[in-house]
Amino acid sequence: MLTQITPRCFYLPNDHETDRPCLGYVRGDRFSLMIDAGNSPAHHRLFLNELAAAGLPAPHAIAITHSHWDHTYAMFAAHCPTLVNHKTQEHLQKMSRWAWDLPAMEERLRTREDIRFCHDCILKEYPDLSAIRVVTGDVVYHGSLTLDLGGMYAELLHLENSHADDCTVIHIPEEKLLFLGDITCDDLHHEPRCIHQSRFDALRQSLISLDFTMALEGHYERACTKEEILASLDEVIAETEAILP
Ligand SMILES: [Zn+2]
Ligand SMILES: [Zn+2]
Repeated sequence: MLTQITPRCFYLPNDHETDRPCLGYVRGDRFSLMIDAGNSPAHHRLFLNELAAAGLPAPHAIAITHSHWDHTYAMFAAHCPTLVNHKTQEHLQKMSRWAWDLPAMEERLRTREDIRFCHDCILKEYPDLSAIRVVTGDVVYHGSLTLDLGGMYAELLHLENSHADDCTVIHIPEEKLLFLGDITCDDLHHEPRCIHQSRFDALRQSLISLDFTMALEGHYERACTKEEILASLDEVIAETEAILP
């Protein structure tokens, strides 16, 4: 069910069953913004239905936090432009050429282009693999992009971090809120899972300097305070198998 975090920001909570992330929503006076598209058209539709049930307008644009399948594979079902940074676009371009049948998916596990966890969740989310369509973004930016939503701004900030080279946070200064996507996570696509220490430290510094009081992580069921987010970074380090420079 759609949950309100601040007067003008909402989210649909994550679902561990097929690794659906939280989907965010920001309602400006003129435009509304969705954060992440969802992992499938079904996930995307669920979000739009929840918005309609809450009497909120459909989004005018979708900010994508990073290219991982669970945040982007619903992009082709979107009825509005999707906003991506140039790195995310590169990854989407590559994935848009992937074949979707079991042998092709298993080959990507062998070559480590994909990982078992995502592979298994994709099979659960898509009973019909031929329904998968990976598309590129509609608006491509470098570094950062600021949107004037009417009475409030949304800042899309591509930050150095340890999860993926394209991770972006969405900062809503007027509500002191940050949509984090998976940026605080370790690098799951590395074998073994790891932290890149210098990138992780850079992220910590960026989060300290950003002005927010609440933040929403992509796979956590509730919004957290800034203090909780900073403390969770230490837990990530403690639980990580390998730390690389
Ligand atoms: Zn991710
Ligand atoms: Zn994710």
